[in-house]
Amino acid sequence: MNEDMITIPLERNPSISVNMIPGHYATSNSHRTHYLAVNHLKSSALLAREVARELALPYVSSTFVDTIVCMDETEVIGAYLAEELLKPGLSVKNRGRDINVVTPILNINKKLTFQTDTMKLINDREIILLLSTITGGSTLAAALEALTYYHGNIVGISALLNAYPDQQEHKINSLFVGENLPHYELYRPAACPLCKAGKKIDAIIVRDGYMEANY
Ligand SMILES: [Zn+2]
Repeated sequence: MNEDMITIPLERNPSISVNMIPGHYATSNSHRTHYLAVNHLKSSALLAREVARELALPYVSSTFVDTIVCMDETEVIGAYLAEELLKPGLSVKNRGRDINVVTPILNINKKLTFQTDTMKLINDREIILLLSTITGGSTLAAALEALTYYHGNIVGISALLNAYPDQQEHKINSLFVGENLPHYELYRPAACPLCKAGKKIDAIIVRDGYMEANY
């Protein structure tokens, strides 16, 4: 599958890239023409630090931040983002403060919530919401709902990739946007032209990773 991989580097920092692997992919609510591989940006300490430096730019000299809420296994990036925002420097807004990096959990009803001792880091705090790839928007919506419910004050939303910026009602600071991704398409399963053409599913996308289909 990987021989057709297309690597899309970030123009201003080519060490950061998204890999597009063409195929026929399914999630719980969509079928897609490519798998967007970004896990290397989240697990490699060196790359996660590069990503954090880029993601910090919109906030570093302007925005008080108490808490970074990490979705989709972005905790390593979140920790480096906090480090960037706390770096000594005259123009650094959060100099001398502290920033907490937290992750919500799913309650028994599969709703996002926070552990009791984490809630105080959300309630009335200045929050950056950090996501990996925004495609369908369901993770974003669930995270915003939870943060609103727990009275977090969202001062910024950041993501590695926002496939459909026009469809989001919030401003999202993302490294990559849909127009960087040639021929990337997402369909409702019932309307998927790849299915209609009889093409088998290559893999199921689970969160940001994929599991190859054995059928
Ligand atoms: Zn399909």
